[in-house]
Amino acid sequence: MSGDFPSGSVWLVGAGPGDPELLTRKAERLIAAADTVFYDALVGPGVLALASPDARMVHVGKRSGRHSRAQGDIDAMIVAAAQSGERVVRLKGGDPSIFGRSNEELAACHAAGIAVRICPGITAASAAAASLGLSLTLRGTARKLTFVTAHARAGEALSLDWAALADPYATLAVYMGKAAAREVSAQLIAHGLPVDTPVALVENASLANERRFVTTLRLLPLAARSALGDGPALLLIGAAIGEAVSQPTQARAALTA
Ligand code: SAH
Repeated sequence: MSGDFPSGSVWLVGAGPGDPELLTRKAERLIAAADTVFYDALVGPGVLALASPDARMVHVGKRSGRHSRAQGDIDAMIVAAAQSGERVVRLKGGDPSIFGRSNEELAACHAAGIAVRICPGITAASAAAASLGLSLTLRGTARKLTFVTAHARAGEALSLDWAALADPYATLAVYMGKAAAREVSAQLIAHGLPVDTPVALVENASLANERRFVTTLRLLPLAARSALGDGPALLLIGAAIGEAVSQPTQARAALTA
């Protein structure tokens, strides 16, 4: 196989949001070449199908609120596989560098003297914006894009700089934000964002079971409870998101038909 993936090495590969066509060509090649693939719960079946039939496929899935394998165990499994001479792909949903715990795995490989590299992927916010048919930045309206996670450690409150996040000239992409929707809404309103600030919720972006819902900051808690299933969902908040609703209905219908 190609020189960038020798035996005993590791690639952290961005699997993108789910649709296998949103993989990079490099990711596709690395997945096909791997002896072992460690993958998260969020990696779509269409992506996993690209692995060799002989590859060892290891689910190390983590979904909030459910059973989660300790990060240290995952690090150790990756290192052990590489040390036994396997070509290892660690597949992560979206982009490995965004809320992907990549650092722990990179550090474990470095500590063990194992060659490790990163192949980027399309992050959920990009996929969600594409599905909504909008731009995350908008000249004069949204000149800043903030990626934030609203996932708190068990038993802890969110500790976010709400005053900084409540920027009317920014788009906020909230990862792992479904459970915290009520707090996100209340805090952003308390820190000055208008109650009618547009919000989009996109679940399973890029997959056949994708759901999109556009609402307002005030109604976000209700929408998060009632409009979504149990798939991964992203919240997009800000004036630029309002552009999603201003598209003529017929044009939108034709596009989604
Ligand atoms: N590294 C990933 C993010 C991991 S955190 C990336 O770059 O996309 C996991 C969170 O990402 C989920 O809770 C959800 O908020 C978001 N997410 C991942 N895939 C998604 C998808 N297909 N649709 C909507 N949100 C998604």
